Amino acid sequence: MAEKKLRVDLISKPENILKTIYTACKTCYSAKLPIEIFDEAPENDKMLSLIEKVISSGHYSTIEHIQLTFAISNVSRACTHQLVRHRHISFSQKSQRYVREKGGIDYIIPEKIKNSAQLKKKFEDFINATSDLYQEFLDAGIPAEDARSILPNAASSSLIASLNLRELIHLANLRLCTRAQLEIRLMVKAMCDEVIKTESWLSDYLVPKCIRFGYCDEEKSCGSMIGKSEILKERV
Ligand SMILES: Cc1cc2nc3c(=O)[nH]c(=O)nc-3n(C[C@H](O)[C@H](O)[C@H](O)COP(=O)(O)OP(=O)(O)OC[C@H]3O[C@@H](n4cnc5c(N)ncnc54)[C@H](O)[C@@H]3O)c2cc1C
Repeated sequence: MAEKKLRVDLISKPENILKTIYTACKTCYSAKLPIEIFDEAPENDKMLSLIEKVISSGHYSTIEHIQLTFAISNVSRACTHQLVRHRHISFSQKSQRYVREKGGIDYIIPEKIKNSAQLKKKFEDFINATSDLYQEFLDAGIPAEDARSILPNAASSSLIASLNLRELIHLANLRLCTRAQLEIRLMVKAMCDEVIKTESWLSDYLVPKCIRFGYCDEEKSCGSMIGKSEILKERV
């Protein structure tokens, strides 16, 4: 039983991300065969200039061809429950039915609780007591699928998540917003950083929605960007 630290790895991505998107964009407007466009693709700057125009005009099908797979470890079930709400992501998650948490529950402590020694201690006492009861149920022959009923939202989980680039941008736009919970923000940030390592041009898109669109549509805004309603008022 231990507190666990987030780990995010990009384990699969296409070889020619820019060239693939460029070919998709250009195929729409060219008499050439797609394979000719692919083989004759210009240098990165030229490809990017077309790609940026196409994406900013909302022609998003062109970025759906890029499929990315992440291995995500040590996130709470509270966090994964939020992630699985995104319907264009495919998941394979560690099962609490089949995996028995031998030696106690691994868990994630939210940062704000961790910052208080007193609250952290109470949190850990609760996890220890829950772990003991979980083990007692297993020892009594209760199947893991039923014993798990008492596991907390803080229980650590791992999953594989596959999504296309359009969905990653959408995920980043929603979940990097300060209105999102800190744990999922940090997880999505780590996913974006993995991609930006080799595709630095994506750093303009893998941002909170306010930065991408130039306004905030949240009711309880953090105030760092002009609100949508203020923009609309100015237009009347
Ligand atoms: C800050 C924050 C707070 C939240 N709070 C709550 C909450 O209190 N309670 C709660 O239940 N959820 C909450 N959510 C989850 C939220 O309502 C969405 O379920 C989640 O963010 C997934 O977003 P999505 O549907 O846009 O994305 P995805 O499921 O990833 O879909 C991407 C896009 O595809 C399109 N799409 C997908 N499926 C359909 C469909 N069936 N019909 C039409 N278009 C579709 C939409 O355009 C959608 O935006 C919250 C999310 C955030 C970011």
